[in-house]
Amino acid sequence: MAERGYDVAVVGGGMVGAALALALAQRDFSVVVLEARAPQMEWDDAGYDLRVSAITRASQQLLDNLGVWPTLAADRVTPYEHMHVWDRAGLGEIHFDAADLAEPDLGHIIENRVIVRALWQAFGASGVTVRVPAQLRSLQADEDGVSLQLADRSRLQAGLVIGADGARSQVRELVAIKSRSEPYDQHAVVATVHAELGNQSTAWQRFMRDGPLALLPMGRELFSIVWSSTPDEAERLCTLSEAEFNVLLTQASESRLGALTVQGARAAFPLRLQHAEQYVRPGVALVGDAAHVIHPLAGQGVNLGFLDAAALVDALLAGRAAGRVPGALRTLRLYERGRKGHNLATQLAMDGFKHLFSNDSAPLSVVRNLGLGAAGRFAPLRRLFEKVALGYGLELPTLSRPPQRR
Ligand SMILES: Cc1cc2nc3c(=O)[nH]c(=O)nc-3n(C[C@H](O)[C@H](O)[C@H](O)COP(=O)(O)OP(=O)(O)OC[C@H]3O[C@@H](n4cnc5c(N)ncnc54)[C@H](O)[C@@H]3O)c2cc1C
Repeated sequence: MAERGYDVAVVGGGMVGAALALALAQRDFSVVVLEARAPQMEWDDAGYDLRVSAITRASQQLLDNLGVWPTLAADRVTPYEHMHVWDRAGLGEIHFDAADLAEPDLGHIIENRVIVRALWQAFGASGVTVRVPAQLRSLQADEDGVSLQLADRSRLQAGLVIGADGARSQVRELVAIKSRSEPYDQHAVVATVHAELGNQSTAWQRFMRDGPLALLPMGRELFSIVWSSTPDEAERLCTLSEAEFNVLLTQASESRLGALTVQGARAAFPLRLQHAEQYVRPGVALVGDAAHVIHPLAGQGVNLGFLDAAALVDALLAGRAAGRVPGALRTLRLYERGRKGHNLATQLAMDGFKHLFSNDSAPLSVVRNLGLGAAGRFAPLRRLFEKVALGYGLELPTLSRPPQRR
C-alpha cells in the first residue's frame, strides 16, 4: 500500500498523546495519530466516567494554550477551592485553601473522556491525521526517519515516532527500552458517589492502613472516589451489595460528608510503579504513562504526562530552529534531560508517602502526625505543598505557562 510521510507519528491518542499531537500540528509539524480504539465521543449526560483526573494549574494552562480549555463543557469541569488530607491513626491533618494563595481554586476535577473528546474535536482544524483503529505491527527507527507497518499491512514513514500508548506501551517494547516495574500491593477502586453534605468545593483524602481514600468533587453533589486497598479487599469492595459498600465507604470517610451513596458501576485497577530506563532513542520518544506510571494518591499521573508533552514540544521547536530533523538524538535528549529527573522525584515522593502512610508502626505514626501537623503550622512548607498542587513547583515548559510568562 502507498506510503505516506509525516514529521511525527504519535502512537496512542489518550490525554497525553492527543495533547501532544495537537500542539505539534498547531506548530506546523505534520502529525498522524495511530490509536487502537476510537474514543468515546458521546454519552448520556446523566452518567459520569469512572476515570477522572485532578488537573493542576499547569495542565489547565496547557489545555488553554491549545485552545481546548474553553470548549470543555462547563458543567463537567469542577473547580475545587479546598483540599483536606488526614490520617486514620491520629490527629494529623492538613487543610489547603485557595483563598490563602489568592487563587480562585486549587485545581479542577475532569472526566478523562471529556478531555480526550475536546482534544480530538480540535484535530480537524489543526490538520492532525487520525488512523483509528490502528494497530502497530513493526517499526524501524533511526535519526533520519521511522518506518511503521500496521496490522492491516499499510506502511507509513515519519521523522519521529512518539510512544504515548500508555503503561503497556507497544512502542517501548518494539524499540526494546527496558522499564523498571513493580506492582504495588494495592488496587484502586473507582466509583461515583453522592454525598449527603454536598461537595463543599473540597477534595478529600484520608490515609488508611491498606491505602488512601480520595474523594474528588464533581458537579451535582457527587464525588469520584479512588479507594486504594489490598487486591483482595478491592475485589470485595467491587462485589459487595451497594448497601454494604455505602456503609463501609461512609465509615472510611468518617462520615465527614454525611452518608455516601454509590451511583452505578464500581471498577478496580491494579496499581504499579513503573519507569522506563530511557525516554528516547534515535527517532523515538516516550511520553506519559508509556514512560512512567505513578501511584494515583496525589493525582499527578496525567499532569506529569502533560509536562512531558510540553517539554517535548519545546525540544522539537529548538531542534527545528537549529535545522535538525525531528528524530535527532540531540533534540530528544534535551527533552529527556528536562523531564526524567522531575518525574522520578515525583514518583519517589509519592512512593514514600504511600509507604509512610500504609505502615502501622507506632514511631511512623508519630512521624506521620508530626509531618501533617508541621505542614499545617509552618507556612513555608504549606506553601510548597500548595505550589505542587497548583503545578507551579518547577520551571515549566512553554506550553504549561500563562502567556505573559512565556
Ligand atoms: C485509579 C486512577 C486514578 C487516577 N487519577 C489521576 C488524577 O487524579 N490525576 C492525574 O493526573 N492522573 C491520574 N491517574 C493517572 C492517569 O490516568 C494516567 O497518568 C493517564 O491516563 C496517562 O495518560 P496517557 O495518555 O499517557 O496514557 P493512557 O491514558 O493510557 O492512553 C493511552 C492511549 O493509547 C492507546 N493505545 C494503547 N496501546 C496502543 C497501541 N499499541 N497502538 C495504538 N494505540 C494504543 C490507548 O487506547 C489509549 O487511548 C489515575 C490513574 C488511576 C489508575
